[in-house]
Amino acid sequence: MIQIDELSVKIENKIILEDLYLHIEKGEAHVLFGPNGSGKSTLLNAIIGNPKYEVLKGQIYFKGKDLVGMPIDERARLGIGIIHQRPPTITGVKLNALLNIISSKSEKEVVDMSSILKMDSFLKRDVNVGFSGGEVKRSEMLQVYSQNPEFIMYDEPDSGVDVENVELLGTLMNEMLDKNKKISERKTSGLIITHLGHIFKYIDIDKAHVLYNKQILCSGNPNEMLNHIMKNGYKRCIECYREQEVKN
Ligand code: ADP
Ligand code: MG
Repeated sequence: MIQIDELSVKIENKIILEDLYLHIEKGEAHVLFGPNGSGKSTLLNAIIGNPKYEVLKGQIYFKGKDLVGMPIDERARLGIGIIHQRPPTITGVKLNALLNIISSKSEKEVVDMSSILKMDSFLKRDVNVGFSGGEVKRSEMLQVYSQNPEFIMYDEPDSGVDVENVELLGTLMNEMLDKNKKISERKTSGLIITHLGHIFKYIDIDKAHVLYNKQILCSGNPNEMLNHIMKNGYKRCIECYREQEVKN
């Protein structure tokens, strides 16, 4: 579904990612860990095609097509969705007007999802203007749900969200990622950035990666990796990686 090879990305004259590789199969959900400022959001922005993030080298294949150089709207139309870490507020644009433009679901489905996400009373408000942290995440979730993408990127969907809403968002993410379906019927893939383990209770995650020093340093079992990181911090990740290198 997504195949990233040798990707190098620059922002404001600073190289953030260098020769990064990441492959995600159809129907799989992966998690991306990494310390603050390691470039996790940069990777997501490069995949969606935010023009501020300059791709210096490499390919980003989505369903066999290289996205590099393609405008952001075209990538969205091809089936890529993103929940931003800090989405902008859009004064003068009502949430329901935005949903009308971007939605590929029926009106009923969007209205039903608005009530599941407790966003009914927000539909007539300007997008994200005055929304609390948790409300912004639910507004983002509603927008991505209505777009119905095949590859969904979630940038810290659980940060600033209370316990009940983490359960709500996690359960919906699991559903959006087709995890309730048989493996052979799953069509959607995802990449989730999180610092917290709570959301893992609700999502069936296939694989985790640690982004460190501009590259994917290590990949493995999500719960095992999270436990290691919680216990030992990211510093231990790099030591462990060096030990593996010596062994090999
Ligand atoms: P993460 O999501 O892993 O916390 P980011 O991808 O947001 O990290 O940022 C990686 C690095 O790029 C950080 O050092 C950050 O300050 C820098 N960066 C991100 N966006 C910009 C920007 N618009 N201008 C300058 N530097 C930026
Ligand atoms: Mg980030």
